[in-house]
Amino acid sequence: MARMAKSLPPFVAPGGVRTLLLHSCCAPCAGPIMEKLRREDFDFTVLFYNPNIQPADEYELRKQENIRYAAELGVPFVDLDYEPQTWFARVRGLEWEPERGARCTVCFEMRFERSALYAVENGFSVFTSTLGISRWKDMDQINAAGERVAARYPGLTYWTWNWRKGGGTQRMSEIAKEKQFYQQEYCGCVYSLRDTNRHRLAQGRGRIVRGVKFYGRNDPEETPR
Ligand code: SF4
Repeated sequence: MARMAKSLPPFVAPGGVRTLLLHSCCAPCAGPIMEKLRREDFDFTVLFYNPNIQPADEYELRKQENIRYAAELGVPFVDLDYEPQTWFARVRGLEWEPERGARCTVCFEMRFERSALYAVENGFSVFTSTLGISRWKDMDQINAAGERVAARYPGLTYWTWNWRKGGGTQRMSEIAKEKQFYQQEYCGCVYSLRDTNRHRLAQGRGRIVRGVKFYGRNDPEETPR
């Protein structure tokens, strides 16, 4: 397994549990979390439920990268249905919300609702998500969504660990390059693609070309979003 500083503090899950469900948004974000959970002998399952990722070929590419890494670590991977139409129905009226706004809260909750249901139906008392490791995300917004959803189920806890600390952010970048993960350049939904392209065009840059960039292959200095 790849190197990691020995002095980093261990993960401590709620109640000291060693078994948990990890909702994953993509391979770059999941990389350092999966690696450390595996290294510390947690019994965990990766759940991929991200109907927010559009279009379908982008969804498939991000998912396959995550499957590739889970297989390499020998971690169970649960691939739930892709249901973008349900996602669009949930965020209707929020199309012009900025990233980290109200649409994202709905988006997080939808993904966590499905994760929580899977957790309860499959005997997990703790679930969490890789979403908060990204510096582009509002960790408090994600944790609040996770805790709201978990509170609907007696005995279920959302684990609010700060994955960025303890070298997590740096390791995220290292693993992405080591494994040459696909480099997505927008959060996931068509609205984030639209807004990222508008921002790029305002800066005199070109539109995103999807499906072509991989960490460590194109720009050695690029870090995960
Ligand atoms: S910007 Fe990202 S988190 Fe927000 S709604 Fe779109 S896909 Fe979901």
